[in-house]
Amino acid sequence: MSTLKLENLGKRFGGVAALEPLSLEIGNGELVCLLGPSGSGKSTLLRIIGGFEAPTSGKVIIDGVDVARTPPEKRPTAMVFQSHALWNHMNVFENIAFGLKLRGTSKREVAKKVGDALALVGLGDYGARRPAQLSGGQRQRVAIARCLVLEPKILLMDEPFASLDQHLRDRLREEVRQIQKKLGITTVFVTHGQDEALSVADRIVVMSTGRIEQVGTPHDIYADPLTPFVAGFIGDMN
Ligand code: ADP
Ligand code: MG
Repeated sequence: MSTLKLENLGKRFGGVAALEPLSLEIGNGELVCLLGPSGSGKSTLLRIIGGFEAPTSGKVIIDGVDVARTPPEKRPTAMVFQSHALWNHMNVFENIAFGLKLRGTSKREVAKKVGDALALVGLGDYGARRPAQLSGGQRQRVAIARCLVLEPKILLMDEPFASLDQHLRDRLREEVRQIQKKLGITTVFVTHGQDEALSVADRIVVMSTGRIEQVGTPHDIYADPLTPFVAGFIGDMN
């Protein structure tokens, strides 16, 4: 179980502050949702944690080491994107095995680890399929397995199920929650869905316009929402 500590992390694009310098600590296998409306800085924050974007200021500390200048493939993080981003010319097994092969993992180990990862996401028999032969939900399961096989300390997910219908989205979210708990993997899950965050998170970080507005358990936030984005939603529910 790993700890992620953000210290005065800020990001500017030219004159625009996508993130005001912010600090946050998460860890011990918790699932934290970054929740906020479009443009609030959720993806920017996640991409900085994963190394796909460099911060303008501040630190990204994972288990005591600042990785803010470390390239993504050398960080103990793995990210699931909104679009599955699988390679269509490779089958499912090869897609998941790719990162392990880059690391020089032996063929036998690769076969075992990919098999385990596929079983974890309920796709044990799908190794030989091409991404094009899978449903949208199955493709996202493969994308998740491709991350998990690398045994990251921190799992990052950016609206991973946004393109799926509500029913499938609910189901996959619950499955991810089960897997995440089972593995005890610290997870940051970006969503603009208040229902999604309230149902799945250990803690919610509410963002707007590049700032953290509120941090708390779903219960805390439900009881005393400090932002119109969440308060309005809860008002509509009741
Ligand atoms: P969210 O994921 O919450 O919708 P983003 O992190 O994508 O928000 O965006 C936060 C802000 O940063 C927005 O104002 C967006 O326009 C801006 N932004 C994000 N990426 C870039 C970029 N590559 N260049 C310029 N501005 C960007
Ligand atoms: Mg986004």
